[in-house]
Amino acid sequence: MLNENRVRLTIGYVGVFALMLLLLGLVAVFGFSRALVIQQDELLTQEARNTTKNLLEGGESEVLATNSDEFGWIALEPDGDVMDRNWTTKPLGLPDTDLFEETLREEEVLPETVRGKDGGARVVSMPMYEAGELVGVMQYARSLQRVRSTVNELVLVFLPLGIGGLGVAAIGGAYMAGWAMRPVREAFERQRAFIADASHELKTPLTLIRADTEVLRRGLDDPDDLDLADDVLVETDRMSNVLSDLLLTARLDAGKLLVDEEDFDLVPVIRNAADRFRKRAASRDLRLQIDEPPDGLIARGDPARTGQVLGVLLDNALAHTPPESGVTVAARPRDGLVETVVSDTGPGILPEHLPRVFERFYRVDKARSRAGGGTGLGLSIARELARTQGGDLAAENAEGGGAVFRLRLPRADGSRRKKR
Ligand code: ADP
Repeated sequence: MLNENRVRLTIGYVGVFALMLLLLGLVAVFGFSRALVIQQDELLTQEARNTTKNLLEGGESEVLATNSDEFGWIALEPDGDVMDRNWTTKPLGLPDTDLFEETLREEEVLPETVRGKDGGARVVSMPMYEAGELVGVMQYARSLQRVRSTVNELVLVFLPLGIGGLGVAAIGGAYMAGWAMRPVREAFERQRAFIADASHELKTPLTLIRADTEVLRRGLDDPDDLDLADDVLVETDRMSNVLSDLLLTARLDAGKLLVDEEDFDLVPVIRNAADRFRKRAASRDLRLQIDEPPDGLIARGDPARTGQVLGVLLDNALAHTPPESGVTVAARPRDGLVETVVSDTGPGILPEHLPRVFERFYRVDKARSRAGGGTGLGLSIARELARTQGGDLAAENAEGGGAVFRLRLPRADGSRRKKR
């Protein structure tokens, strides 16, 4: 549980970091492209001026468009006729008629991006004057390919840096999450140790109380006194069961629970578990039926722990089933596993409680559970025992009413060894 939280914290940290990197990258790329375009506009304005000068005054200013197919220009008369142009204008999308008309109207230098053949171009459109009179429009363009490839290079530099940064963030995040979880881990460990010690300390005097009560009971004749002694025995048994559950929980948390991993026949384990509850079922007129495969069913895990899980399920099923009805235990192979289904004909579990019944100390009807000695630990322990054996335990409601618990365990694989 603590490790899950550590992973969640790390993922959250890395997620936030990735989002920040992404935003930063977007801002950097956008800002960089913008700066390149502004620089481009300045260059194009200067080139447009030089070309206009050459054209109208017959000067010899050096212009870029004569040397490269990246650049192109076109000079238009006010009626739209071409005054002059260089050879690269078409692929660059010149002339841009809308921009031409706007320049004539506004009589201003107007920069714009136009769609050319090769992924667009940046154009500066400038009014041309001769002796103070508007004589045409000069459009000077440069392909945007250069800007794009520079931006792509920037992204290529950013990408490995970003991925590296995320890797470092993941390692740092895992370390920081571990560090942040340390006090919780310590508190959890203190609580676990306290529960284990307290349960252990209480178990010994409780055993003594039970033994002494039994001795005292033998010397009693009065029915009221016998009743009182029986009450003490029942209550000490109940307390002893609670303490056993608490001890088991503490051992599961510490990872100190030894679980056998062996091939075993599930059928005798089911029969044994059912036999322990036969008397109780009969006293309430309940049928306890076993639906078993004729040739046995070999599972892999711990037979004693499996019996313990079935004990919890049968105990609950009998407690929730009304008299004169039935509880069924059915075993069968399923989806490559072996499945034992304990179903009852009780009220079932309300959908809002269903996902929570495996939580520790979770009780559906608190007052009733407490009166019946329930601690809300049974199902949580049962599921953990199932999972420690490599299986699982799930709950659902039957269509016709009643609760259904499915215990799944791995199938036999022939080898034998002990784990944890
Ligand atoms: P407890 O020891 O208090 O019974 P459990 O962990 O075994 O605790 O069960 C948790 C809750 O699930 C209980 O409060 C009980 O009401 C409910 N529950 C368990 N089994 C059944 C069942 N077969 N039918 C209806 N409710 C059940």
